[in-house]
Amino acid sequence: HHAKEHDQVFIRYTEAMKKVTQSRVELENDMRKALERNEFFLEYQPQFSLQSGKMVGMEALVRWNHPKRGLLPPNEFIPLAEDSGLIVPLGEWVLKTACQHNKKWQLDGYEPVCVSVNLSMRQFRQYNLADKVDAILKEVGLESKFLELEITESMTFDIETALNQLQSLKRLGIHISIDDFGTGYSSLNYLKSLPIDRLKIDRSFVKEVMLDGNDAAIVSTITTMAHHLKLKVTAEGVESEEQLEFLKGQNCHEGQGYLFSKPVPARVLESEFLSRLAG
Ligand code: C2E
Ligand code: MG
Ligand code: MG
Ligand code: MG
Repeated sequence: HHAKEHDQVFIRYTEAMKKVTQSRVELENDMRKALERNEFFLEYQPQFSLQSGKMVGMEALVRWNHPKRGLLPPNEFIPLAEDSGLIVPLGEWVLKTACQHNKKWQLDGYEPVCVSVNLSMRQFRQYNLADKVDAILKEVGLESKFLELEITESMTFDIETALNQLQSLKRLGIHISIDDFGTGYSSLNYLKSLPIDRLKIDRSFVKEVMLDGNDAAIVSTITTMAHHLKLKVTAEGVESEEQLEFLKGQNCHEGQGYLFSKPVPARVLESEFLSRLAG
C-alpha cells in the first residue's frame, strides 16, 4: 500500500521532471536559432555620478524576444546558455552590439560615455578572450577606454588564471569591474592582486540600507574599502531618495537603479539621457 503510494508520487515526480527537461531542451534549441533570427536585443541602464548627478555610463543588458513565450529576462535563459555553451556566441553578439551602439552615439555627437558589458564564466575562461575583445573594438572603431567588462567574484577563484586573463584585458585599455560585489564566496585576497577598476555593490545590500543596520554597515565598509584600494564604487539597485542620500554620505561614486531609470531600449537611452548630456 505504501509502495503503491510511493510509486504514484514517483510517477508524478518524473512526469513533472520530464516537462521541465523538455521545456529546457526546447528553449535551448530555440536559442540556437534565435541569434540568426535577431530575437535578442539590448537594453541599457544609465549610470550616474552621485556627486554631480550627471550620467557617466550605461550597462548593456540582454533580452530575448521569444516568438512564442514573449519577452524573456536574462535570468530565464542566461543560465541555460551557460550550460549549453551558447553563451559564448551570445556573449560576443552582446559585446559587439553594445560597442556598435556606443560608437554610433559618439558619431552622432553625444558626449562619449563608457558602456559596461557582463561577461559570463565561459567567456572569461576562453584563452583568446582578449584577442576577441580587441578584434571587436578595432572592427567597430571604439576606443577601449569606452568599454568596461563586468566579472563576478566567482571568476576570481583561480587567481592565477584570473590574473593572466585580466592582465591581457587591461593591456587593451578597457576597464574591469566586479559585479554583485559581496555576494560571492571568494576571499578578499584577489582585491589586492588583480587589476580591477571598480566594485559594484550588489543590490541586495542597497535594498534595505535604510532599514537594516547590518546592510548599512556592509555598504559603508565596502565603500570605505574601495576608497582605500583606489577603486571606483557603484551602488546597484538604488530605488529611493533616502538610499541615494545615504550613498552620497558614504562618498559612493556612482549609482544605478530604478530611482534614475530602469533599463531602456537604445532609442530611449538616446532620447531621454544621451541627448541631455552636453555634446
Ligand atoms: P546584473 O549584471 O547585476 O544587472 C543588474 C540587474 O539589476 C538588471 O536585471 C537590472 O534590470 C536590475 N536592476 C537595476 N536597477 C534595479 C533596481 O533599482 N531595482 C531592481 N529590483 N532591479 C534593478 P536584468 O536585466 O534582469 O539582468 C539580470 C542579470 O542577468 C544581470 O545582473 C546579469 O548578471 C545577467 N545578464 C544580463 N545581461 C547579460 C549579458 O549580456 N551577459 C551575461 N553573461 N549576463 C547578463
Ligand atoms: Mg552587471
Ligand atoms: Mg550579474
Ligand atoms: Mg549586479
